[in-house]
Amino acid sequence: MSQLIFSIFLLIFFCACSNTTPNNTTISSKQDDQATATKVNHKDNTLQPNVKADSLISSVFLMGKFDYRTHPWFVKVPAGMSNREIYIQKETLEAFSKMHEAAKKDGISFVIISGTRNFTDQKAIWENKWSREIVTHKTHKATALKILEYSSMPSTSRHHWGTDIDINSLVSSYFKTGKGAEEYAWLVKNAKKYGFYQTYTPKDKGRTGYSVEEWHWSYYPLSRKYLEQYNLKISNKDITGFSGCETASEIDIVKNYVNGIEAFK
Ligand SMILES: [Zn+2]
Repeated sequence: MSQLIFSIFLLIFFCACSNTTPNNTTISSKQDDQATATKVNHKDNTLQPNVKADSLISSVFLMGKFDYRTHPWFVKVPAGMSNREIYIQKETLEAFSKMHEAAKKDGISFVIISGTRNFTDQKAIWENKWSREIVTHKTHKATALKILEYSSMPSTSRHHWGTDIDINSLVSSYFKTGKGAEEYAWLVKNAKKYGFYQTYTPKDKGRTGYSVEEWHWSYYPLSRKYLEQYNLKISNKDITGFSGCETASEIDIVKNYVNGIEAFK
């Protein structure tokens, strides 16, 4: 009889233990699931959509091999803000319009004189300069470096992205005195409030690449993403299809020119 009672006790004891262990496991597993779910939700709500959107930015786009006149992200700049038919990204235009309006209240007038240029446009500029410069420079590398003082190789221009604009003049001296100096001072002081910044500042602090361009302003909220994707997806060997393109690797065009920019501050 006592053996029977002992057996029943053992049975109850083991049943209790076997319930405890799975329950603990279940709780711990639920906690893990909740933690995972939180992480997943956090990603879904914040990071993931951007990561997804950024990963859709193609090499073709980044290298300017598309028609901005028909691309859905691009719009024509209204006549009052440009001096000819110019396209930029809608978001860039919205930010520029606000900056344009604010400057106007301060008696400053801004006109976009260059916006989006695709691979074909940039190739025309490059080839034109190439045919001129090749006559006076001994090597392809020297010819390319001369052109690269102010002009990009096709596939490497920030103007491909619809985020970068040239304002008022393409001559440095214009911004040194009088009206030009006032306009430049206004931009230096205020452009960042609207997301714009000067990418090609003086090179004395170690920036590589193009010469200083007081007229070239970049819409950072978009161009930041494109540069990030460019560095992930494009290398020197992808820069092809124009005179002297074989110099891209020798010059290390992606490191020294595409990334030869001022930091946004
Ligand atoms: Zn420019």
